[in-house]
Amino acid sequence: MARKPIIAGNWKMNNNKAQAKELMDGILYGISQLDASKMPEVVVAPTYTALWQVYDLIKNEPKVKLAAQNVNPNPKGAYTGEVSLDMLNDFKVKYVIIGHSERRQMFAESDEFINQKALAILSEGLIPIICCGETLEQREAGVTDEHLKNQITKAFNNISASDAKKSVIAYEPIWAIGTGKSCDAKEANRTIGQIRKVIADLYNQETADNIRILYGGSVKPSTIVEQMAQPEIDGGLIGGASLIAESFIDLIKGAMTDEHAVV
Ligand code: PEP
Repeated sequence: MARKPIIAGNWKMNNNKAQAKELMDGILYGISQLDASKMPEVVVAPTYTALWQVYDLIKNEPKVKLAAQNVNPNPKGAYTGEVSLDMLNDFKVKYVIIGHSERRQMFAESDEFINQKALAILSEGLIPIICCGETLEQREAGVTDEHLKNQITKAFNNISASDAKKSVIAYEPIWAIGTGKSCDAKEANRTIGQIRKVIADLYNQETADNIRILYGGSVKPSTIVEQMAQPEIDGGLIGGASLIAESFIDLIKGAMTDEHAVV
């Protein structure tokens, strides 16, 4: 099953205008040196304030796609501080990250709200990157698989099989995010295999075989090759290591293995 891998950089609340340009220039230069036929899909998720500029820098570079870090599912109106899908469409945003543990924990976003966002994103023709992941306490209590099943089942409520197939999931154990302590690659592979089984049970095997499931949590150039060698892992959602052009390019290179290169 050839699923096109994704290397996605989540810039979080980093990079002002000048920094976003410097980082993007470095990434674009690095990409220009790579064999396009073997490249994963490269995705960058700047802050809203840098979206216009990054859009402008990549508009002639089809190898890089734009993601937003969030969206409000309502079409417009009295939602102070929020941004709509219509606004993201101005910048040809392809992906929207939703359900990130930072938003679930710091902004109290519920599974139901994440599901509303997923439905709205898909109805506008964009693609959600739906994050899920367990806390350290849940892992130690042995309830990881059950917790992920619950998060995935709720996130995909009322989503059709054809929309599910094009969606992206990011498995991000919370204890691995920003800690420098990546999940063991084989264990990440096992857990992602379980998530795929949940999708097969919710829909069918074809949907499960097509949906791309990324791993996120302290992915670094030194871990990416082993991670990408795992059959269930279709790429990475990367925070810290996506903020330096050289390291992001090394992550892209690590995802250029032959078995992950799609023909
Ligand atoms: C993330 O926030 O999605 C993430 C995986 O961060 P980091 O790579 O820094 O652990």
